[in-house]
Amino acid sequence: MKVLVIGSGAREHALCRSLSLDSDVTALHCAPGNAGIAEVAELHAVDALDGAAVTALATRLEADLVVVGPEAPLVAGVADALREAGVPVFGPSGEAAQLEGSKAFAKEVMAGAGVPTARSYVCTTPEEIDEALDAFGAPYVVKDDGLAAGKGVVVTPDLGTAREHALACGRVVIEEFLDGPEVSLFAITDGTTVLPLQPAQDFKRALDGDEGPNTGGMGAYSPLPWADPKLVDEVLQTVLQPTVDEMRRRGTPFSGLLYAGLAITSRGVRVIEFNARFGDPETQVVLARLKTPLAGVLLAAANGTLGDLEPLRWSDDAAVTVVVASHNYPGTPRTGDPITGLDEVAAVDAPHAYVLHAGTRRDGDAVVSAGGRVLSVTATGKDLTQARDRAYTAVARIGLDGSQHRSDIAAKAAAEA
Ligand code: AMP
Repeated sequence: MKVLVIGSGAREHALCRSLSLDSDVTALHCAPGNAGIAEVAELHAVDALDGAAVTALATRLEADLVVVGPEAPLVAGVADALREAGVPVFGPSGEAAQLEGSKAFAKEVMAGAGVPTARSYVCTTPEEIDEALDAFGAPYVVKDDGLAAGKGVVVTPDLGTAREHALACGRVVIEEFLDGPEVSLFAITDGTTVLPLQPAQDFKRALDGDEGPNTGGMGAYSPLPWADPKLVDEVLQTVLQPTVDEMRRRGTPFSGLLYAGLAITSRGVRVIEFNARFGDPETQVVLARLKTPLAGVLLAAANGTLGDLEPLRWSDDAAVTVVVASHNYPGTPRTGDPITGLDEVAAVDAPHAYVLHAGTRRDGDAVVSAGGRVLSVTATGKDLTQARDRAYTAVARIGLDGSQHRSDIAAKAAAEA
């Protein structure tokens, strides 16, 4: 099978790594990729948002499957362009990707499907905003209606901050605050059959102790020793299957990766948000534990034959990923700094720990930083304690001037397990 992956983050590196270990995959390509992906796939300098260019590349490569990683190309209709050209693609249509692209659309689908979520108002005027903020009270949850890469959400006890963000958004969703631990649960679907993956937890805040600004994600772990073993089944019945059925009913079938961001509240599971693609960094830990070869599963989702597959097989190992980010992330990050220690991790810590690249590029012989999140250092172990020890041992070998990472990824879960 010839596979083309679209994207350039650590999520795409994790996908490429799993695909490169799959004996069904005879050729692996990525556009545009990064310095780490270049070690397992052939890179192509094609704009991920350009549906015509991606389709031309897939056709030229005679790709049997295209896997679209990030949300932006999905919302831009790249999967539609591929499907129109008859190329099997893992990823929803632009219309179906509105489940992520528009918070208001997601709320509408959840209401139609009877999926439990926070009560909310969609507001466009200052009067509506004040009314909604007043109705829910503090802490305030204010979400920009458009795509904002996880950064358009403000959760704050301060009314002034909440109002200011809401007024800056234009169209905004204001909702009830959900209390309780968060879980990311991914499901692979062909629009009818839904195959949940193992749950993970990510760390959205920049600093230890969940302090600092929201980011794209600073680390993740799986499994969740503290979670109810029936959680996955419950979410399949109450959230994932009803949502996929509702999308089909509405004439916008969703195939690809449905990501449910959940809050486990005292009143039960509530959906915080849906995403239309693999989450980054949770993918790094979920795929580290998946034993079933990946390509066949993604192809079955693309071809509508997911119902014929055997159940997925999982490793009992735990996995932890720690994101190493540039100086000043999530503000405007400093880039172009050389990264050292990558060879040492590969020589000493593999196969239990390995580095997945995000914002990196090659500069002569050196690998240099090229974005906010630079690396996802991922490790497996017999439990979370061993996996996090291995991950942090590898992180300590890496040199990147001014870089930052959280030191408490999976710490609480490992201590309580
Ligand atoms: P989102 O982009 O919707 O996932 O929001 C980003 C983050 O904001 C989530 O991971 C939560 O930590 C937080 N958040 C979003 N909605 C709520 C809510 N209703 N109650 C509490 N926290 C929330």
